[in-house]
Amino acid sequence: MKKKQKEPPAPIERHETIRRSIISIIEGQTLSAKEISGSVSIPEKEVYEHLEHIRKTVNTIDAHLVITSAECAKCGFVFRKRERLKKPGKCPICRSEFIHEPLFLIKKAL
Ligand SMILES: [Zn+2]
Repeated sequence: MKKKQKEPPAPIERHETIRRSIISIIEGQTLSAKEISGSVSIPEKEVYEHLEHIRKTVNTIDAHLVITSAECAKCGFVFRKRERLKKPGKCPICRSEFIHEPLFLIKKAL
C-alpha cells in the first residue's frame, strides 16, 4: 500500500489566487493598496508586487489597470512619472510627507 503524501505548498498557484481576488476586488471600484491589503489579508508591500504583475498581464483578460497617481496633499503635486506603483515617501516640491496614496481600478473592455 502506498502512503498518500501530503502535497507541498504551491506558491505560484497561491499567487494566482491572490491576483484573481485582487482583480475581482478592484473591478469596478477604485481602491488604494492599503484597502486592498485589508480585503485580501496580505501585507501592503505584497499588494504592490501583485499590482505590478497585474498591470503587465491584465490585458490577457481584456482589461486594463487604471492608476490614479499619488498626489501631494499640501501643494497638489502629482506623481505622474513613476515607474513603480508604490506610494512615494515625500513631495519633491514642498517636502511634505502627507501624500494621497495612488488608487487602482480594473476596467474591462466591452
Ligand atoms: Zn508638495
